[in-house]
Amino acid sequence: MNRFKQFTYLFPFRRLIVVVLIVMLTTGFRIKINRDGSPSRWYISRNDPTIWIRTCDETVDFAYDIPVTDPFYAQGTDLKDIYQSIVDDFNDVQTSFLRLALYPDDPENPPAPEAGDSTFDANKARIRTIDICSGDIDYYAVAQASMENNLEACESLDDSTYADYCSEVYIHSCEIIFKKDYAENSARRFIHTMTHELGHCVGFMHNHDTHLSIMSYLADPDEILRLQMDDKMGLTYLYPKEDEYNDEEPTFGLTGCE
Ligand SMILES: [Zn+2]
Repeated sequence: MNRFKQFTYLFPFRRLIVVVLIVMLTTGFRIKINRDGSPSRWYISRNDPTIWIRTCDETVDFAYDIPVTDPFYAQGTDLKDIYQSIVDDFNDVQTSFLRLALYPDDPENPPAPEAGDSTFDANKARIRTIDICSGDIDYYAVAQASMENNLEACESLDDSTYADYCSEVYIHSCEIIFKKDYAENSARRFIHTMTHELGHCVGFMHNHDTHLSIMSYLADPDEILRLQMDDKMGLTYLYPKEDEYNDEEPTFGLTGCE
């Protein structure tokens, strides 16, 4: 009888224990998985690491509220400059080879690549471009990544360089749409949202961390503007500069030191 009483005493906490376990298992970064179980990523490599970002030629009349702690503080509200600051944030992750670059204004005469970037090639960019434009949507912004191979591109990219692209599954495009009315309310919120949506484009899903990830359901745009530690670990896992960098082991936040 006594034992039964103990069991019934614990019973109300069972749901709580399940919730705690779910939260523990979904903090940190979360990635998209292909049907065959492999991580979903772009067809890029350490020697050819760039994904291009093609934006609509438009202006957004931002309210200026970028905090003094942000590297882009006092740099204006030009949309292209804001995109560049977001690109720089992704490129600053030293342990990941992934590079983002703005799509050239004139694809026929692209500028020289920045140090570390791939040389622009319009054919290659067909399977390595993220598109961003404002649009008529009900949300602040949406991102839609295509996780099936671009078979049409496969047929025209018959170069042997692309043989493994066509036999495996890669993200080959991603489209981000944002609502201009909302964006105009806050440059800070725009940077937060665009960094989050680009996170989806490079292969991340939502997690439940509160402070360490811009991909979290719970990330506060007033607190977090840029990539956080878990996001940087995710980029390193998906696109590691060195192979051993992606030997990820779950620690449940219990890291020790020697
Ligand atoms: Zn999201």
